[in-house]
Amino acid sequence: MNNKLYGNLIFELSREGRKGYSLPKNHYGNYVIPQELCRQEDAALPECDEPTVVRHYTNLSNNNFGVDNGFYPLGSCTMKYNPKINEEMAAEPQFQNLHPKQPVQTTQGALAMVTLLERALCELTGLAHFTFKPYAGAHGELTGLMTIDNYHRSRGDLQRKKVIVPDSAHGTNPASAAVCGLEIVEVKSDARGLVDFEDLERLVEQEGPNIAAMMMTNPNTLGLFEERIPEIARLIHDCGALMYYDGANLNPMLGACRPGDMGFDVMHINLHKTFSTPHGGGGPGAGPVGVREGLQEFFPFVSPYHGNFAVMMRAYAYILSLGREHVKEVGPLATLNANYIKESLKDVYELPIDGLCCHEFVFDGLKDKSTGVTTMDVAKRLLDYGYHAPTIYFPLLFHESLMVEPTENESKETLDGFIEVMRKIAGEAKTEPDTVKSAPHLTPIGRVDDVLAAKHPVVTFRQMSNEE
Ligand SMILES: *Cc1c(COP(=O)(O)O)cnc(C)c1O
Repeated sequence: MNNKLYGNLIFELSREGRKGYSLPKNHYGNYVIPQELCRQEDAALPECDEPTVVRHYTNLSNNNFGVDNGFYPLGSCTMKYNPKINEEMAAEPQFQNLHPKQPVQTTQGALAMVTLLERALCELTGLAHFTFKPYAGAHGELTGLMTIDNYHRSRGDLQRKKVIVPDSAHGTNPASAAVCGLEIVEVKSDARGLVDFEDLERLVEQEGPNIAAMMMTNPNTLGLFEERIPEIARLIHDCGALMYYDGANLNPMLGACRPGDMGFDVMHINLHKTFSTPHGGGGPGAGPVGVREGLQEFFPFVSPYHGNFAVMMRAYAYILSLGREHVKEVGPLATLNANYIKESLKDVYELPIDGLCCHEFVFDGLKDKSTGVTTMDVAKRLLDYGYHAPTIYFPLLFHESLMVEPTENESKETLDGFIEVMRKIAGEAKTEPDTVKSAPHLTPIGRVDDVLAAKHPVVTFRQMSNEE
């Protein structure tokens, strides 16, 4: 990769008087723009010739890493399989050019798709109704918790303000509960990485009448199947609370078991994870919320219209292309792939919880801790070999978490390539630890200060020149 090209901003490539555009003929007639709306001086735009512009943006885009460049084994928030046919469907002009304020008689096809998607999701989850308004998983959690809160209020049960969340949960679970004005009570994981039932019984005994809901993820964030859900659901329902299911990553469950049958009352699904739609950089997403019969009247108003329609379109195309017969294969294949990688690497990477995993699993860094090579170093070194790093330092249960989710669609050759490189890095950690600790060596930028980048992003040219 070319560091020099990467370093240049388009403004720095600008030369006064260079032109790289040609405007189309004016078909619209001339309009007089009122003087007070006009600029008083020229906008500070870069002036570049066409090849410079094209090369600049093409080189920038080459520095991106995505599922179309290579293997992307990110656990939990995975970029799962995004078939191109779904992109084509979502890009159909009949759908893409819809306007939410169009007369309903002209949008019947789109509305029918929403209804059919709702039916498919009901069938897959065992719940009775879905709302498509939420724009993301976290937005879905908030919507679901507000639904639960509304339900308790409707019964005059006003003291239920606590939500039980497992310590292995995705960070958005406690965050959504807090945004909803609810208090978080954490339930511990047992030695096997599952919800500690004794700890839960103690909490329910203590807090019973104050509990609004219990949030669970299954398979949980360690990629483990929670075995005691029917008992947990009974315990929670008996104390008057509801069961919430975080279905962000529903893929391992598809066609095999349904949250509704297990005793969950409310759930969200991340269509952008489970049912395709690439979502790098934070969007776009859709987090529809499903409920048991009777709870739909408590859906809150969280956004206008029908959510992110193109994401729903992709999800529907994906479900249809799999069909009832093949939707069942997603989970077993994802599980097979994850277990294959886990078993092939567990002699060199620390596997804190052994046994069969579902679609993902977590290592606790390298097995040999004497080298000083951390999970961060392994993740950075992977970039030199052309792989996206797995999820790191999450879940928080282990110090050196490295969470791998290969997804169902990757070939054995791809998995073998990844395994080989992971083993190679484990070897390098012993023979040349400094190479791993100072990685990456082949990317335009090495190690950024994540906190600084998040808290003080420099995103404009002006800001940059001010700082110099
Ligand atoms: C990704 C994820 C979420 C949050 O979804 P967003 O769309 O990023 O808001 C919640 N729970 C789990 C388990 C997830 O993997």
